[in-house]
Amino acid sequence: MSSFPPGSVIGILGGGQLGRMLGVAAAQLGYAVHIYAPEANGPASDASRFWTQGRYDDGDALSTFAASVDVLTYEFENVDGRAMQALSGSGLVRPSVDALRIAQDRLKEKNYVADLGGRTAPFAAVDSLDDLKAALATIGTPAILKTNRFGYDGKGQVRLYDAADAEAAWSAIGEAPAILEGFVQFDQEFSVLLVRGFDGDIRFWDSPANVHVDGILDTSTLPAGPVITAQVEEARALAAKVAEALDYVGVLTLEFFAGAEGPVFNEMAPRVHNSGHWTIEGAVTSQFENHIRAVCGLPLGDTGLVAQGVTMRNLIGEDALGWQVILEDPANHLHLYGKKEARAGRKMGHVTRLEP
Ligand code: AMP
Repeated sequence: MSSFPPGSVIGILGGGQLGRMLGVAAAQLGYAVHIYAPEANGPASDASRFWTQGRYDDGDALSTFAASVDVLTYEFENVDGRAMQALSGSGLVRPSVDALRIAQDRLKEKNYVADLGGRTAPFAAVDSLDDLKAALATIGTPAILKTNRFGYDGKGQVRLYDAADAEAAWSAIGEAPAILEGFVQFDQEFSVLLVRGFDGDIRFWDSPANVHVDGILDTSTLPAGPVITAQVEEARALAAKVAEALDYVGVLTLEFFAGAEGPVFNEMAPRVHNSGHWTIEGAVTSQFENHIRAVCGLPLGDTGLVAQGVTMRNLIGEDALGWQVILEDPANHLHLYGKKEARAGRKMGHVTRLEP
């Protein structure tokens, strides 16, 4: 089946804030959401009709879950590939299991994008300490060692400033399969956010300038300024190639460094993304609504910007305790994710402001 009308049940793997915001968008369009997650509840609890607690590597539980929903998507990439394989035959999973398999592995995604003509940092596969030493000899320092899988928000990464750092770095990432990347000189970072419909229609949102602090997104700002704007066309062309090659359905995010020679691809996410949260108030149609529309085979909504400028700021850890002060400014749109403990480094919410 290619389209699922309002009233259908959308299964989502993952029950965090992305699932929460997808659930709100789905409810607005008349769909019900069924979450599958290892936790008993989470940020998506407030925006889902059903919840199944299960492990991401439990193929049987995932199959039962898949059989109970009309269409299935995910807000989280680190789902066991073999378990996902069990779900892939029916065309039920959008974006496809192939897209997930590539995007959940840094080495696979870098190779995939490089093969399509994308510019990347110099990189090499590292499966042992000897590989790391050999990679350092060709790539040099400074460099970054990143685990292929399970890394997010700067986790699973170590910077190396000298070849003598090899042993400590290899041990710091738990001797897991990894890639070594050369350090890219860049002034700014940005992301390309696109949605591709079931019929192949592709739409882009404006690209924000993204600032990271301690490996975690701090702000996304539009307009992104001249340096990024000059590189967006090339970055979009690459992102569209990736989406087409994967016959992708849903929102796809590619992150770039604005390098001296042009856009340098860093990583991609086969899902809605933190650097697209501004689209809830800042675009005609949000990334969450368009993801739901794409997954359900509906026509896509307009991705145009509705203001002169937009800023999204993440509320990390105790930042969220300042919600009352944030609300004193009527121009602030406050989003809190309902997480109980404001732990350091934890994404608790975000604030969006429009410049009319
Ligand atoms: P990542 O998890 O790959 O998105 O990395 C987190 C952040 O570390 C990026 O947003 C950059 O600010 C920085 N970073 C990652 N890779 C590189 C690189 N090859 N060169 C320079 N900075 C990097």
